[in-house]
Amino acid sequence: MPPEHTYVAEPGFHSRSQEAVAHLLGGACPVLEPGHVWLAGAGPGERGHLTLHALCGLIQADVIVYDALVDPGVLALARPEAEQEFAGKRGGRPSPHQRDISARLVALARSGRRVLRLKGGDPYVFGRGAEEALILAENNVPFRVIPGLTAGLAGLASIGIPATMRGVNQAIVLATGHAAEGEADPVASLDWGALARLGQPIVLYMSVRILDDVARRLIAGGMRPDMPAAAISRASSPEQSILVATLDTLGARLAETPLPTPALIVIGEIVRLRDTLGGLARDATLLLSTS
Ligand code: SAH
Repeated sequence: MPPEHTYVAEPGFHSRSQEAVAHLLGGACPVLEPGHVWLAGAGPGERGHLTLHALCGLIQADVIVYDALVDPGVLALARPEAEQEFAGKRGGRPSPHQRDISARLVALARSGRRVLRLKGGDPYVFGRGAEEALILAENNVPFRVIPGLTAGLAGLASIGIPATMRGVNQAIVLATGHAAEGEADPVASLDWGALARLGQPIVLYMSVRILDDVARRLIAGGMRPDMPAAAISRASSPEQSILVATLDTLGARLAETPLPTPALIVIGEIVRLRDTLGGLARDATLLLSTS
């Protein structure tokens, strides 16, 4: 094993769990160098969805800059001496500007810290991770991207919906109704009619509030109003729940029964597969089914 890929625990940093990570990675835990940034995904929901590489970053980082979607149980795995900086929305207060977060990462790296930038899900899926990576690249800060399980795929499986099933779908669309900040009509920046004509399931991130608008556009584009549709709340956590309806009724159902955030929307025949493939997730998490 090349020495640069071998993580050696610091003196005084020998808990059994840290040794276990190095062991599980076969001694090939990449080294988080001083002055470097790892842009890592924590997966959705509880910490069991963390990858070993993300865990490897957690046990080495001097400072962890994390988002609201990161489970506190994940942060509990960090070194006790590590600083933890929150960089998300909290208690209705406005979130820090993206440019300030990126500037903070550059400053921390320049101060010689080992920086873990930790995001929910996958850092490169609707997480603005690519924007942060761009600023790091522009400032010549060495960085590595640690992929994570994205909510739009892992969250479906956790609640009993397969992302693909032979004979049902050949593609799956991951989309958001939210475009760039400050756009007058962010929903309009995507051709929803084209997505409707694909005839493939659509998973929507950050779109509960604009669901009615999106549903109208999909139906106008030719999607059946009675297409199964569901909202999945806090996927991959013990509190996960699902509300199943149809494309034309899901918005009203959610207005009657708001689900805790974060939540995803999934539209397509794959939703129905939960009836047979839900497994243990089915009974434990069914909130309301109107289909
Ligand atoms: N990078 C993240 C997505 C960030 S965008 C990822 O790859 O998963 C934030 C949106 O993701 C939320 O508005 C919600 O739509 C979705 N999301 C994230 N975690 C979720 C979870 N545990 N359950 C349901 N939706 C989730």
